[in-house]
Amino acid sequence: MSAPQAGPIALSVVVPMFDEQDVLPLLVQRLRPVLDGLRLGYEVVAVDDGSSDATPVLLARERHSWAQLRVVRLRANAGHQAAISAGLERARGDLVVTIDADLQDPPELIADMVRLARAESLDVVYAVRDDRTTDTRFKRVTASGYYDTMRRLGADHGPSNAGDYRLMSRATVEAVTALPEHHRVLRLVVPSLGFPSGVLTYRRDARAAGRSKYPLSSMVRLALDSITGASIAPLRLATWLGFVGAVVALGLLVYALVGYAVGLNVPGWTSTFMVVTAVGGVQLLCLGILGEYVGRTYTMQLGRPTYYVAHDSLSGQEPPPPPG
Ligand code: UDP
Ligand code: MG
Repeated sequence: MSAPQAGPIALSVVVPMFDEQDVLPLLVQRLRPVLDGLRLGYEVVAVDDGSSDATPVLLARERHSWAQLRVVRLRANAGHQAAISAGLERARGDLVVTIDADLQDPPELIADMVRLARAESLDVVYAVRDDRTTDTRFKRVTASGYYDTMRRLGADHGPSNAGDYRLMSRATVEAVTALPEHHRVLRLVVPSLGFPSGVLTYRRDARAAGRSKYPLSSMVRLALDSITGASIAPLRLATWLGFVGAVVALGLLVYALVGYAVGLNVPGWTSTFMVVTAVGGVQLLCLGILGEYVGRTYTMQLGRPTYYVAHDSLSGQEPPPPPG
């Protein structure tokens, strides 16, 4: 076991984790030798995103033998993106890597990321999955739909299939965390900052243990945050739908008036029903789109944080013993 490196922190590794008791020992086993082998001052910022399993207990245990491990515990589950933000806002390294806890992102790549960033003076290094065969078919289809949509919306989302495994310079991290945006989708925000960046490709492995913490509802939330965060195109779509609806309604009005004049009107139930349904549908859809944006404006002006930190092991505070 190597002694903790003294001196400045050259690298912070931010790992969000939610109920990851099954992978945690495997993660430590693989991550630690990589970081120790870099021969530079580092810290691991494990963000415990309100886990209710043994994750906090295991983290506290690891800290006894791993001085560079720092634990930031959030009081409640805030979600993947917010957990990463919590880590970024606390990381002290000159370089910061964000990585998932489940070993789908191979930790060995960190050495290459650091090397590339230093050799080419890059501010951002994206780790791009060149192979998604270990993902489920559903995940692959939804992912490619996601990246297609974002590209069409003109969102500069950086390289496709770059998840949240990336290296960022201090300047990049400061720029990201300075954004007041609440529903920050990092894979969209980071490329939009325009820092010099490079790409490393890797094979994405299957989750080492445990189950995905990304249910469909979280995927939908990420998609909505991405779309509304990237553009107001849906609002414009609502305007167009409203316009088309209005034109159709006008045509039908003329048709109805002509019919009335000629004395043809009476058995008109079908057309009435169809018009009411169509116009009502368009209206509801447009209201929903408006609601998405209004809701976001509302939550932002409330100014509430997206996460609450329960404790940070850096402050010397140790986590309270978990219940049970
Ligand atoms: N995660 C988190 N908070 C959540 C959900 C997930 O911190 O509310 C973490 C999780 O522990 C993992 C990473 O985010 O380290 C990615 O989650 P997961 O592997 O479950 O997503 P998937 O790979 O299935 O998309
Ligand atoms: Mg995963």
